Amino acid sequence: AKEQGPNNYRFFRKDMKTKFTQRVAIEQQLRHAIDNDELTLVYQPKFDACTCELVGMEALLRWHNEELGSISPQTFIPVVEESRQIIEIGHWVLHKAAEQMKKWQDAGLGAVSMAVNISAVQLHHEQFIPSIHEILQTYQLEPKWLELEMTESIEINRSSMLEKLRTLNRMGVRLAVDDFGTGYSSISYLQKFPINSLKIDKSFVQRISGPHSDHSLIEAIIAMGRSLKLEVIAEGVETEEQLAYLKSHGCHQVQGYLFAAPLTAGEFEAIYVKGAKL
Ligand code: C2E
Ligand code: CA
Ligand code: CA
Ligand code: CA
Repeated sequence: AKEQGPNNYRFFRKDMKTKFTQRVAIEQQLRHAIDNDELTLVYQPKFDACTCELVGMEALLRWHNEELGSISPQTFIPVVEESRQIIEIGHWVLHKAAEQMKKWQDAGLGAVSMAVNISAVQLHHEQFIPSIHEILQTYQLEPKWLELEMTESIEINRSSMLEKLRTLNRMGVRLAVDDFGTGYSSISYLQKFPINSLKIDKSFVQRISGPHSDHSLIEAIIAMGRSLKLEVIAEGVETEEQLAYLKSHGCHQVQGYLFAAPLTAGEFEAIYVKGAKL
């Protein structure tokens, strides 16, 4: 066992170095991403599970860099959360999404909401609530059309957080718990917080059918959400079988490749915005 030590050590070091180098490159390149117009938003529609009507969309961030290529938000978001660049980038996302929403509303988009993913770091920042006010004001958006998707990692137990969420709720902005079921939230926390909807993580949706099917958790999550009078939405819906299951168990909204992948603004507009002036 002793002879293996140095090898393992070297292996570990190599892995660390690669990760570190990648982080540094991402951090450096992202510093100019906004100025260089490297960031864009794509929009994934959400539908009513029963009527299949469009009820909302979610803005998802995309980054294409000349040197690094296209990088998934799953890779770069954690990096910018640690370097706190997420504050600036998150602010850009909110502005861009609100600006787009305003354009589409003016072009005739009906009762449809715009959801934006919010990182815990952003929410903790003292300027977060003022910036939401500013955005609603700037784009003359009714607060009820803006939905903030937050994961359970927001340290919901802190009293300052509860205060912030209550303020947002009083403003009329909608709040959703994202990736629901993967974190630590309990039923008492759900009762205490002024949230409007639960977004079931796609890992549970994927287990509805297939060789490793397991319904127990998703069934409990939908039942819990409904009993708390929350809107229940499932992400990552890919098959008719999943849709049928979700519908029959009372899930309110669905989103996923079965209906539409995230779309560019142009694609979204062509399909969903009636009377849009291109
Ligand atoms: P998320 O918020 O849970 O978003 C769902 C992810 O699943 C998205 O990946 C979406 O493109 C993908 N997806 C949608 N439909 C399906 C489907 O039917 N099957 C499968 N397998 N996947 C589907 P994406 O766009 O790569 O984003 C990954 C994560 O990055 C997001 O997870 C979110 O946590 C984060 N993210 C994206 N944009 C932003 C942003 O503007 N701000 C922040 N803070 N985080 C963001
Ligand atoms: Ca989300
Ligand atoms: Ca998710
Ligand atoms: Ca996520």
